[in-house]
Amino acid sequence: MHDLMRLLSLALLAWLMTPASAVGQQTYELVIKGGKVVDPHTGVNAVRDVGIRDHKIAAIEPKLPADKAQNTIDAHGLTVTAGFVDIHTHVYAGTGLKGAYNGDNSVYPDGFTFRSCVTTVVDAGSSGWRNFPDFKDRVIDRSRTRVLAFLNIVGGGMAGRIPEQNVEDMDPEAAAAMVKKYPGLLVGIKTAHFEGPEWTAVDRAEAAATSAEVPVMVDFGIFRPERPYEALVTKKLRPGDISTHMYLDAVPMIDSNGKVFPYLFEARKRGVVFDVGHGGGSFVFSHATPAVKQGFVPDSISTDLHIVSMNAGMKDMTNLMSKFLNLGMSMEAVILRSTWNPAHEIKHPELGQLTVGSPADIAVLREIKGNFGFVDSSGGRMDGHRKLACELTIRDGAVVWDLNGISRPEWKLSEKSTPTPQASGTQPEKK
Ligand SMILES: [Zn+2]
Repeated sequence: MHDLMRLLSLALLAWLMTPASAVGQQTYELVIKGGKVVDPHTGVNAVRDVGIRDHKIAAIEPKLPADKAQNTIDAHGLTVTAGFVDIHTHVYAGTGLKGAYNGDNSVYPDGFTFRSCVTTVVDAGSSGWRNFPDFKDRVIDRSRTRVLAFLNIVGGGMAGRIPEQNVEDMDPEAAAAMVKKYPGLLVGIKTAHFEGPEWTAVDRAEAAATSAEVPVMVDFGIFRPERPYEALVTKKLRPGDISTHMYLDAVPMIDSNGKVFPYLFEARKRGVVFDVGHGGGSFVFSHATPAVKQGFVPDSISTDLHIVSMNAGMKDMTNLMSKFLNLGMSMEAVILRSTWNPAHEIKHPELGQLTVGSPADIAVLREIKGNFGFVDSSGGRMDGHRKLACELTIRDGAVVWDLNGISRPEWKLSEKSTPTPQASGTQPEKK
């Protein structure tokens, strides 16, 4: 009897010491069922069930048993990919600064990201080493969107046209020190909007980035004959550095015979990265159409999201991706450039892919066929027949956007009115 009691108490002790995570280990909090998984990095392009547990992708299989799923989302006919990684945005809002990207020209990320299946944004230099801590406190730490940043080589960041020309405030040492203080969060150095004839802005950005071992993203500002763009991409930039606004009309791109200049292919061969950065004024079909046709396609598709671009031709990530579908690129090619490629460019290889163990940041897309119009920065329209809609976004394992309520029970079947996961900020409730 004494032995039996001892055995029972030992069993009880063992049960009490079992970590909570081990209980029900083989179940999934959420299973996205029957969607076509397109993950260009791993090469998966097939109908798969995706199981999510503990904020991570736990399984990608042809079929996951229904009794292992606490919640199920039917994704038949939809495309399931990694959440999009938009590496050119402006999200340093709330400072009250009028007419500046570190102020009123920025948007708060959560209001614009999830609805277009974006789960990670990189702010492209709205802040510099002087005000990055304020940006972090004001926006980054309070957002559900994963917000990373390129640090502006100008200490005050994008405080307006005049302050952005201040060469005295371009301090490579201070910028590099700030990047080293926040590794992984600060993913590179940005130079932008420079108007002078000198290479100073580019050179100091390169000095900071070399010291901090991160890439530079260049918005070349005013194109000056004293510092030709060709020299920038064939000589100045290092492999891995990023030239954004690649289809800007000021970029010498198409010769008089309609051919893409060979220097652009040479620059790409050197390892220079070409990024879209559409924005309000940096994408013209007269460049993008022949360039895509001749193989000068983007390495990464980014929006340059800000208060002007989102109400103009750019609109949002899915609209921008749709432009490239209608320019003739395949779904896989467009998704690659919106997921893995940008994640790889900013040295975050855990993002932009759907593999077991990676963060559960997921996009569920619907491709719609119909008659659509797409507008560029010159105000011209291109007609097209394909458009992507963001049906569902999952960030860190939770539904944060659900266009048609596919994660919710029909209201008549729902036992009681439960708050939506996005409103409560929790995992989806059990049905
Ligand atoms: Zn920008």
